[in-house]
Amino acid sequence: MPDNLTPEDRKRTMRAVKSSKTKPERRLRAYLAGRGISGWKMHPVDTLGSPDFSFPELRIAIFVDGCFWHACPHCNRPLPETNIDYWRKKIQRNVERDRLVTHELRNGGWKVIRIWEHQLRSDLQEIGEILIRAFHNLDTIDELQLQED
Ligand SMILES: [Zn+2]
Repeated sequence: MPDNLTPEDRKRTMRAVKSSKTKPERRLRAYLAGRGISGWKMHPVDTLGSPDFSFPELRIAIFVDGCFWHACPHCNRPLPETNIDYWRKKIQRNVERDRLVTHELRNGGWKVIRIWEHQLRSDLQEIGEILIRAFHNLDTIDELQLQED
């Protein structure tokens, strides 16, 4: 299939993909705030991986992984047809970096929670409840496996 997209079209497409990533994060933020959870920083540059939510005092990092950018096995979102090698490598690098960041943070004593974007879209309430329970019983956070795969 020929590439009929102008660079401007492509930028628009990618912006749409990116902005769709931020919405579930905002909903989660509102949910947590509404339930009295506070004390997080969003995307702090001084925490490895710049988590979507970082609770520096509790040393808890929450990442909301976009299904496209982080290769969600449940959604299995197709790569753009143009420059498919570029996209495959880029997303592969993201996945490797995710693993490394999780590993390094845990080595540094952080509790790391990863959530798929689609989980927040479909089960915000359920995910929110699980997080709230975990915050009230911090010992359980290490067992939290929210990303099913
Ligand atoms: Zn997904």
